[in-house]
Amino acid sequence: MESDFISLSLNDSFQFSCGSHTPCFNECCRDLNQFLTPYDVLRLKNNMGISGNDFLQRYTTQHTGPESGLPIIRLREKHEDAFKCPFVTEKGCSVYHDRPSSCRAYPIARAVARNRQTGKLTEHFMLLKEPHCKGFHTGKHQCVKEWIENQGLMIYNEINDLMMEIISLKNKTIPGPLDLKSRHLFHMACYDIDSFRDKIFNKGLLVPTEYDECLLENAKEDDTALLRISLKWVQKMIFDQFK
Ligand code: SF4
Ligand code: SF4
Repeated sequence: MESDFISLSLNDSFQFSCGSHTPCFNECCRDLNQFLTPYDVLRLKNNMGISGNDFLQRYTTQHTGPESGLPIIRLREKHEDAFKCPFVTEKGCSVYHDRPSSCRAYPIARAVARNRQTGKLTEHFMLLKEPHCKGFHTGKHQCVKEWIENQGLMIYNEINDLMMEIISLKNKTIPGPLDLKSRHLFHMACYDIDSFRDKIFNKGLLVPTEYDECLLENAKEDDTALLRISLKWVQKMIFDQFK
Protein backbone atom coordinates (compact mmCIF):
# COMPACT_ATOMS: atom_id res chain seq x y z
CA MET A 1 0.00 0.00 0.00
CA GLU A 2 1.30 3.43 -1.02
CA SER A 3 1.42 6.48 1.25
CA ASP A 4 -1.27 9.13 0.68
CA PHE A 5 -0.60 12.84 0.91
CA ILE A 6 -3.78 14.85 1.36
CA SER A 7 -3.69 18.63 1.23
CA LEU A 8 -5.58 20.28 4.13
CA SER A 9 -6.39 23.82 5.23
CA LEU A 10 -6.23 25.00 8.87
CA ASN A 11 -9.95 24.39 9.31
CA ASP A 12 -10.14 20.98 7.64
CA SER A 13 -10.60 18.08 10.03
CA PHE A 14 -9.21 14.56 10.16
CA GLN A 15 -9.66 11.53 12.42
CA PHE A 16 -6.62 10.32 14.31
CA SER A 17 -5.47 8.89 17.61
CA CYS A 18 -2.11 7.58 18.76
CA GLY A 19 -0.95 5.77 21.88
CA SER A 20 -0.17 2.41 23.44
CA HIS A 21 -3.66 1.21 22.36
CA THR A 22 -2.65 1.29 18.67
CA PRO A 23 -1.22 -1.96 17.16
CA CYS A 24 1.56 0.10 15.55
CA PHE A 25 2.74 1.68 18.84
CA ASN A 26 6.36 2.93 18.40
CA GLU A 27 6.48 1.83 14.73
CA CYS A 28 7.11 5.42 13.67
CA CYS A 29 10.15 5.77 15.96
CA ARG A 30 12.38 3.46 13.94
CA ASP A 31 13.93 3.64 10.45
CA LEU A 32 14.59 7.18 11.50
CA ASN A 33 15.66 10.09 9.33
CA GLN A 34 14.99 12.83 11.81
CA PHE A 35 16.32 16.37 11.36
CA LEU A 36 16.25 18.74 14.32
CA THR A 37 15.58 22.46 14.32
CA PRO A 38 17.38 24.82 16.72
CA TYR A 39 14.30 24.90 18.97
CA ASP A 40 14.06 21.07 18.92
CA VAL A 41 17.68 20.90 20.15
CA LEU A 42 17.01 23.48 22.88
CA ARG A 43 13.99 21.58 24.23
CA LEU A 44 15.69 18.18 24.09
CA LYS A 45 18.92 19.22 25.80
CA ASN A 46 16.92 20.94 28.56
CA ASN A 47 14.72 17.84 28.94
CA MET A 48 17.88 15.85 29.61
CA GLY A 49 19.49 18.51 31.78
CA ILE A 50 22.66 18.59 29.67
CA SER A 51 24.41 21.33 27.71
CA GLY A 52 23.76 21.92 24.02
CA ASN A 53 27.27 20.76 23.22
CA ASP A 54 26.83 17.50 25.18
CA PHE A 55 23.52 16.83 23.49
CA LEU A 56 24.94 17.43 20.01
CA GLN A 57 27.94 15.17 20.68
CA ARG A 58 25.93 12.31 22.15
CA TYR A 59 22.78 12.24 20.09
CA THR A 60 23.28 13.92 16.71
CA THR A 61 25.31 14.10 13.51
CA GLN A 62 26.05 17.27 11.56
CA HIS A 63 25.53 17.66 7.80
CA THR A 64 25.28 20.36 5.15
CA GLY A 65 21.81 21.09 3.76
CA PRO A 66 21.88 20.05 0.09
CA GLU A 67 19.85 23.08 -0.99
CA SER A 68 20.60 25.71 1.65
CA GLY A 69 24.32 24.91 2.10
CA LEU A 70 23.76 25.54 5.84
CA PRO A 71 24.74 23.22 8.72
CA ILE A 72 21.86 20.90 9.66
CA ILE A 73 21.51 18.48 12.56
CA ARG A 74 20.22 14.93 12.43
CA LEU A 75 19.27 12.68 15.33
CA ARG A 76 21.70 9.75 15.55
CA GLU A 77 19.59 6.62 15.23
CA LYS A 78 20.57 3.24 16.73
CA HIS A 79 22.10 1.43 13.75
CA GLU A 80 22.35 -1.80 15.71
CA ASP A 81 18.67 -1.76 16.68
CA ALA A 82 16.44 -1.23 13.60
CA PHE A 83 17.62 2.39 13.27
CA LYS A 84 15.46 3.29 16.26
CA CYS A 85 15.32 6.73 17.78
CA PRO A 86 17.63 6.92 20.84
CA PHE A 87 14.66 8.12 22.92
CA VAL A 88 12.11 5.40 22.21
CA THR A 89 11.34 2.91 25.00
CA GLU A 90 8.81 0.09 25.36
CA LYS A 91 6.54 2.57 27.10
CA GLY A 92 6.85 5.14 24.31
CA CYS A 93 8.79 8.36 23.88
CA SER A 94 11.06 9.10 26.86
CA VAL A 95 11.23 12.80 25.93
CA TYR A 96 7.53 13.16 25.11
CA HIS A 97 7.08 16.58 26.73
CA ASP A 98 9.93 17.95 24.62
CA ARG A 99 9.73 15.77 21.50
CA PRO A 100 10.76 17.41 18.23
CA SER A 101 8.31 19.40 16.13
CA SER A 102 8.03 16.79 13.37
CA CYS A 103 7.09 14.11 15.95
CA ARG A 104 4.47 16.45 17.44
CA ALA A 105 3.00 17.38 14.09
CA TYR A 106 2.74 13.84 12.67
CA PRO A 107 0.55 12.87 10.78
CA ILE A 108 0.35 16.51 9.70
CA ALA A 109 3.27 18.01 7.79
CA ARG A 110 3.63 21.79 7.56
CA ALA A 111 5.46 23.58 4.77
CA VAL A 112 6.04 27.33 4.67
CA ALA A 113 6.52 29.43 1.53
CA ARG A 114 8.01 32.92 1.72
CA ASN A 115 6.96 35.64 -0.72
CA ARG A 116 10.15 37.14 -2.20
CA GLN A 117 8.69 40.64 -2.55
CA THR A 118 6.81 41.03 0.74
CA GLY A 119 8.60 38.46 2.93
CA LYS A 120 5.15 37.19 4.01
CA LEU A 121 5.00 33.52 5.01
CA THR A 122 2.19 31.24 3.85
CA GLU A 123 1.51 27.89 5.53
CA HIS A 124 0.52 24.69 3.71
CA PHE A 125 -0.55 21.48 5.43
CA MET A 126 -0.63 17.85 4.31
CA LEU A 127 -2.06 14.79 6.01
CA LEU A 128 0.42 11.91 5.63
CA LYS A 129 -1.29 8.54 5.52
CA GLU A 130 1.47 5.95 5.70
CA PRO A 131 0.73 2.21 5.55
CA HIS A 132 2.44 1.42 8.88
CA CYS A 133 0.36 3.97 10.83
CA LYS A 134 -2.94 2.56 12.08
CA GLY A 135 -4.15 5.65 13.93
CA PHE A 136 -6.54 6.93 11.28
CA HIS A 137 -9.69 5.00 12.04
CA THR A 138 -10.09 5.72 15.76
CA GLY A 139 -10.16 8.80 17.94
CA LYS A 140 -11.94 12.09 17.56
CA HIS A 141 -12.18 14.30 14.53
CA GLN A 142 -10.24 17.54 14.90
CA CYS A 143 -9.18 20.33 12.59
CA VAL A 144 -5.56 21.13 11.77
CA LYS A 145 -5.72 24.29 13.89
CA GLU A 146 -6.82 22.32 16.97
CA TRP A 147 -4.12 19.73 16.34
CA ILE A 148 -1.43 22.43 16.23
CA GLU A 149 -2.66 23.89 19.53
CA ASN A 150 -3.14 20.53 21.27
CA GLN A 151 0.33 19.33 20.28
CA GLY A 152 1.99 22.50 21.61
CA LEU A 153 3.28 23.38 18.17
CA MET A 154 2.72 27.17 18.20
CA ILE A 155 6.07 28.06 19.76
CA TYR A 156 7.91 25.51 17.57
CA ASN A 157 6.35 26.92 14.39
CA GLU A 158 7.05 30.50 15.44
CA ILE A 159 10.74 29.90 16.06
CA ASN A 160 11.15 27.53 13.11
CA ASP A 161 9.80 30.31 10.88
CA LEU A 162 12.67 32.56 11.97
CA MET A 163 14.94 30.00 10.27
CA MET A 164 13.04 30.63 7.01
CA GLU A 165 14.19 34.25 7.12
CA ILE A 166 17.77 33.10 7.64
CA ILE A 167 17.62 30.62 4.74
CA SER A 168 16.15 33.28 2.48
CA LEU A 169 18.86 35.79 3.48
CA LYS A 170 21.56 33.18 3.00
CA ASN A 171 20.29 32.30 -0.48
CA LYS A 172 20.35 35.98 -1.42
CA THR A 173 23.79 36.76 -0.04
CA ILE A 174 26.02 33.66 -0.06
CA PRO A 175 25.40 30.99 -2.71
CA GLY A 176 26.90 27.58 -1.88
CA PRO A 177 28.38 26.37 1.41
CA LEU A 178 29.57 28.77 4.13
CA ASP A 179 33.26 29.31 4.84
CA LEU A 180 34.62 27.49 7.90
CA LYS A 181 34.41 30.44 10.30
CA SER A 182 30.80 31.34 9.35
CA ARG A 183 29.86 27.67 9.53
CA HIS A 184 31.23 27.41 13.06
CA LEU A 185 29.46 30.60 14.19
CA PHE A 186 26.18 29.54 12.58
CA HIS A 187 26.33 26.13 14.22
CA MET A 188 27.05 27.59 17.66
CA ALA A 189 24.40 30.34 17.50
CA CYS A 190 21.65 28.03 16.19
CA TYR A 191 22.33 24.73 17.94
CA ASP A 192 24.79 25.19 20.81
CA ILE A 193 23.01 27.92 22.71
CA ASP A 194 24.96 27.42 25.97
CA SER A 195 28.27 28.10 24.21
CA PHE A 196 26.68 31.11 22.48
CA ARG A 197 25.61 32.47 25.88
CA ASP A 198 29.12 32.05 27.24
CA LYS A 199 30.62 33.78 24.20
CA ILE A 200 28.37 36.84 24.30
CA PHE A 201 28.18 37.32 28.08
CA ASN A 202 31.66 36.20 29.17
CA LYS A 203 33.93 36.29 26.12
CA GLY A 204 32.87 39.56 24.49
CA LEU A 205 31.53 38.11 21.22
CA LEU A 206 30.13 41.09 19.38
CA VAL A 207 26.44 41.81 20.04
CA PRO A 208 24.64 44.25 17.74
CA THR A 209 23.71 47.37 19.68
CA GLU A 210 20.01 47.25 18.80
CA TYR A 211 19.22 44.59 21.42
CA ASP A 212 17.72 46.28 24.44
CA GLU A 213 19.14 45.70 27.90
CA CYS A 214 15.97 43.99 29.16
CA LEU A 215 16.00 41.37 26.39
CA LEU A 216 19.68 40.68 26.96
CA GLU A 217 19.14 40.39 30.72
CA ASN A 218 16.35 37.80 30.17
CA ALA A 219 18.60 35.86 27.81
CA LYS A 220 21.11 35.27 30.61
CA GLU A 221 18.67 32.76 32.15
CA ASP A 222 16.05 32.04 29.49
CA ASP A 223 17.15 29.81 26.59
CA THR A 224 14.17 30.68 24.38
CA ALA A 225 14.87 34.41 24.76
CA LEU A 226 18.51 33.71 23.95
CA LEU A 227 17.61 31.69 20.85
CA ARG A 228 15.49 34.58 19.55
CA ILE A 229 18.56 36.80 19.97
CA SER A 230 20.96 34.28 18.46
CA LEU A 231 18.86 33.81 15.31
CA LYS A 232 18.76 37.59 14.80
CA TRP A 233 22.49 37.63 15.53
CA VAL A 234 23.08 35.12 12.71
CA GLN A 235 21.14 37.32 10.28
CA LYS A 236 23.09 40.41 11.24
CA MET A 237 26.58 39.10 11.85
CA ILE A 238 26.87 36.33 9.26
CA PHE A 239 24.67 37.48 6.41
CA ASP A 240 23.95 41.22 6.63
CA GLN A 241 27.60 42.07 6.28
CA PHE A 242 27.53 40.70 2.75
CA LYS A 243 24.56 42.84 1.62
S1 SF4 B 1 11.67 11.77 19.81
FE1 SF4 B 1 10.10 10.47 20.71
S2 SF4 B 1 8.37 10.58 19.28
FE2 SF4 B 1 10.16 11.34 18.18
S3 SF4 B 1 11.00 9.58 17.09
FE3 SF4 B 1 12.06 9.71 19.08
S4 SF4 B 1 10.89 8.42 20.49
FE4 SF4 B 1 9.60 8.79 18.68
S1 SF4 C 1 2.57 4.64 13.70
FE1 SF4 C 1 0.97 6.25 13.89
S2 SF4 C 1 -0.57 5.52 15.40
FE2 SF4 C 1 1.26 4.18 15.49
S3 SF4 C 1 2.43 5.04 17.20
FE3 SF4 C 1 3.23 6.01 15.33
S4 SF4 C 1 2.01 7.89 15.01
FE4 SF4 C 1 0.98 6.63 16.54
